[in-house]
Amino acid sequence: MTLQDFQVSDRDLSEVTLGQYLESEAIAVDTETMGLLPLRDRLCLVQLCNPEGKVTVVRIAKGQTDAPNLKKLLEAAHIQKVFHFARFDIATLRHHLGIKVQPIFCTKIASKLARTYTNRHGLKEVVQELEQVELDKSAQSSDWGNAANLSDTQLNYAANDVRYLLSVQQKLTTMLQREQRWELAQECFQALPTIVSLDLLQFKDLFEH
Ligand code: MN
Repeated sequence: MTLQDFQVSDRDLSEVTLGQYLESEAIAVDTETMGLLPLRDRLCLVQLCNPEGKVTVVRIAKGQTDAPNLKKLLEAAHIQKVFHFARFDIATLRHHLGIKVQPIFCTKIASKLARTYTNRHGLKEVVQELEQVELDKSAQSSDWGNAANLSDTQLNYAANDVRYLLSVQQKLTTMLQREQRWELAQECFQALPTIVSLDLLQFKDLFEH
């Protein structure tokens, strides 16, 4: 398998890449971790993509507790950070690197609010319908812990998870506006930091009876 076009960077973004990304109005972001529990499972990779399609895969070292350039980018108020299932990624970024991501757009929430004709809201299904691209998710559940020796298959997978997000975001935004759900979507995105605070304190049913 040949490596597609992306950069790999250790521990943080370079100053040059940070400068480029700070000029964008939106950045797609994804993470790979050792598992689904942010309090237990360490963060291994942070992947980013700007509107020009420049993809960077940042390898996070074991025991690493900050990444100053990633923090500058992900907290920059003038740049929308686009995730698929942001609730997980912003929890792991906050817990492991102390990054308070904002402002946020979640393509999974947007898909659920706009695409009410289906219950298929995984990234693969959303990209398939809106971009006519078949994502290979075979590396999804793999060992991301040996960051120095990731396979080409793993790196390509990680990079592809951010490559289509900004295009998906635009298409979902158009659908949300058409269906008069854009304001509601924004209110949901603004609530995410609070929901993540509750998740990290392990409150599970705060709004239940
Ligand atoms: Mn991913």
